[in-house]
Amino acid sequence: MPELPEVETVRRGLLKIAKGRKINTIDVYYGKTITNDVEEFRQALIGQTIEDIDRRGKYLLFRFSNNLTMVSHLRMEGQYFSQPIGGPIDKHTHVVFQFTDGTELCYHDTRKFGRMTLVRTGDEMQVGGLKTIGPEPTPETFKLDFFRDELKKSRGKIKPFLLNQRHVAGLGNIYADEVLWMSRINPEQPANSLTDRQIKNLHANIIKELAQAIKYKGTTVHTFANAFGGAGGFQERLNAYGHGGDKCPRCGTKMIKIKVAQRGTTYCPHCQPLREDLP
Ligand SMILES: [Zn+2]
Repeated sequence: MPELPEVETVRRGLLKIAKGRKINTIDVYYGKTITNDVEEFRQALIGQTIEDIDRRGKYLLFRFSNNLTMVSHLRMEGQYFSQPIGGPIDKHTHVVFQFTDGTELCYHDTRKFGRMTLVRTGDEMQVGGLKTIGPEPTPETFKLDFFRDELKKSRGKIKPFLLNQRHVAGLGNIYADEVLWMSRINPEQPANSLTDRQIKNLHANIIKELAQAIKYKGTTVHTFANAFGGAGGFQERLNAYGHGGDKCPRCGTKMIKIKVAQRGTTYCPHCQPLREDLP
């Protein structure tokens, strides 16, 4: 599943291939991709211009000239690509936005889990997980005091805590493993047992790691590709995720892969011991 850096990379690609384009027509081949009535969705957008594309967490927000916003979530495998009108599409292309400039924006999704929802601009925070989404992982919005309070209130393990988008937006399995490795915290450590120093360290690493991953255009796992069909470059910089059985880059101990809250989780047993000396 694309995480925040991958979705941000897609957004930046979409600005180049879709921003400012006017919609001539829309072809929908798999109706469930659109959560609205498909015909109403088409009629509302035909003739409109994509004025901007924003992002909140892992959600893309297409801003249209008639004060409508299309919320798009890629889920597991959703991708956008651009081509000249009438270019090849396959059975996994579910929606095609034809523009008046002779290009078209295609939405491709092998798993069919991605969704688009059209709402009045301003109402987008009522869609799906946006209702309860936490702060963006930036110094301006992700405050240490908020993070500490949320951790203290939690009764779960730190790994699923980080995956919960209410606490901080955009972390998924890859970057949760990475920030825990960077912060030397065991993924099964109870969230409310972190020391103040660990909390500060983890908070800083979340901001740093996601900014760094955006800089490298995200991580390519499975079929993630940005809006140009290109691949991200961050996978070569991952230290934990995907490295079960490899040597820890910090201490040389063999990294192990376990399941935490049903998610594959890789960590270093030496650098990330479970602290049980707690009150
Ligand atoms: Zn280690």
